[in-house]
Amino acid sequence: MHCPFCRHGDSRVIDSRTAEDGASIRRRRQCPACGRRFSTLETSSLTVVKRSGAQQPFSRDKVVAGVRKACQGRPVSDDDLALLAQQVEETVRASGSAQIEAHEIGLAILGPLRELDEIAYLRFASVYSAFTSLEDFERAIATLRAEHDALRAEEDGHPSVPPAAGP
Ligand SMILES: [Zn+2]
Repeated sequence: MHCPFCRHGDSRVIDSRTAEDGASIRRRRQCPACGRRFSTLETSSLTVVKRSGAQQPFSRDKVVAGVRKACQGRPVSDDDLALLAQQVEETVRASGSAQIEAHEIGLAILGPLRELDEIAYLRFASVYSAFTSLEDFERAIATLRAEHDALRAEEDGHPSVPPAAGP
């Protein structure tokens, strides 16, 4: 990255942040030669490596398409799906690596999808986690139910975890 003032061929990154769309990174840089500061907007490519070894660029549309199937008949809007795809992209980009494996995307989908719709989550998890038996569903549902109960207990004013004794 050349300095735009003196054309020095090197610069020091003093701050980086992901732009709101999650697809680019804004970096604040300082030139070690002239000391002046400038910023750059970098769109980093993100490659998905499939189990077969094939590679393709990360696509939010593909995330949406995959999740939409699990959301059929559920009260989930296009906006919800777009936001979920954005969260997924931010999560996988946060790893900082330019190459990610397809299963990492599946993993990044599970959390936000569970927040969005638990039925869609169970459907997606059953395919993604390759549930092979009713017991797999029962376990997943038991986990969700335990969390509901803990939440309800808190709302009723009965904390699920007893307060620690004071010093
Ligand atoms: Zn310079």
